Amino acid sequence: MTSLRTRERLVQRLMEQGVSDFRVLDVIRNTPRHLFLDEALSHRAYEDSALPIGYGQTLSQPYIVARMTEILLGAAGGRLSRVLEVGTGSGYQTTVLAQLVDQVYSVERIKPLQDRARVRLRELGLRNVQLSHADGGFGWPEKGPFDGILSTAAPQYVPEELKHQLAPNGVLVIPVGGQQQSLYLIVRDGDSDSFHTQELEPVRFVPLLSGTAR
Ligand code: SAH
Repeated sequence: MTSLRTRERLVQRLMEQGVSDFRVLDVIRNTPRHLFLDEALSHRAYEDSALPIGYGQTLSQPYIVARMTEILLGAAGGRLSRVLEVGTGSGYQTTVLAQLVDQVYSVERIKPLQDRARVRLRELGLRNVQLSHADGGFGWPEKGPFDGILSTAAPQYVPEELKHQLAPNGVLVIPVGGQQQSLYLIVRDGDSDSFHTQELEPVRFVPLLSGTAR
């Protein structure tokens, strides 16, 4: 079966699970997730499951990639111009975002993962992504403020730095917690220093690790 047909089946399943933003579904349909995995795992790329990418990290389940992306787009008023991703990992979520917003900035603390992601993004011809090897818990202050921030690793508490790198009415989508995690949507109220916080649904992410990047 061609990967396009298997991706179509994946999109059907995501719709059954309640993903409804057609912009997101179209991008998932057109993004070759198998290219973000080691060859030995690539035949499992269109299962709706998280898969290992090395260094104890995982490529998130397609459902959660789709869900977080639609929450980000839905909560933002218009088209998102500048978006920060925390946790580049394989670069799959980065690639999904790059097709939906103007400019993506993505931070990863594990250098070999970042290197691999960079090669894939180049092969796919994406020109609107910049990568940084750093602790994404501090955001990317030189590139902010951002209209949207999406974290694919879970801190115990929402880092203040991320909130403060949001542009007016900017949107932060982030898993928070330890053993028990929830997805949070945090929206900056205009250009003020107050934020509207909403707890959305239970999730399971790798932890957002702080400290020396390797
Ligand atoms: N978005 C990724 C998901 C990768 S899992 C994908 O689509 O494949 C989460 C990633 O967050 C891991 O690669 C992990 O190394 C990274 N990470 C964890 N803590 C981090 C931190 N403090 N700063 C930057 N990246 C971090």
